[in-house]
Amino acid sequence: MSRRESAKAAAPAVTQATLVKKARDRIAYKPADVSPQRRLQRRYTMRLWSVRHARFLEWFYGRFADLFLALHPLWKAIGYARAERPVKFVERQVKGLMFDCRMCGQCVLSSTGMSCPMNCPKQLRNGPCGGVRANGHCEVEPDMPCVWVKAWEGSRLMRAGDAILTVQKPVDQSLRESSAWLRVTALAAQKRETGNGTAA
Ligand code: SF4
Repeated sequence: MSRRESAKAAAPAVTQATLVKKARDRIAYKPADVSPQRRLQRRYTMRLWSVRHARFLEWFYGRFADLFLALHPLWKAIGYARAERPVKFVERQVKGLMFDCRMCGQCVLSSTGMSCPMNCPKQLRNGPCGGVRANGHCEVEPDMPCVWVKAWEGSRLMRAGDAILTVQKPVDQSLRESSAWLRVTALAAQKRETGNGTAA
């Protein structure tokens, strides 16, 4: 092999990624100078915090649900249907930030260690699939910790953590984009009034 050929062989290969990078438009805007990987990690920060603080959130949600139930006469006076829009807006913001909530309308966070199962790419509501990676991450989204691994961890911190063993019904798609807070409140109020109403 000539010296020229061996120098050529030693040079690093130009990959497709390098070509794409070079061809990219050079503009002033940079997305906070953060790598895509770092952005993904940031996306999970809050939901992982919520799982780590599942015990506190369980306690807090109990007080919050009591308050909402105490406000039942107000919701009734306004009309649940009319209250839905502003309450849903707040619910979406709060739960979106803390749990990456997808507004399924039938919240099971109290039974899943404060880890929202709707973030599972397969939207499994009763435990993980068989594809959890050895590092506890999702097989579909390798950067994402499996929501069911996190659910189990969170449930172990909660007083009523064994609720995770309760088999959940399939998702009722007709409840999507509705307020779980108001629905649970209305059902609890009905139960309180009749003494035997059906629960969520
Ligand atoms: S279970 Fe449903 S309502 Fe609860 S956080 Fe997840 S998507 Fe939102």
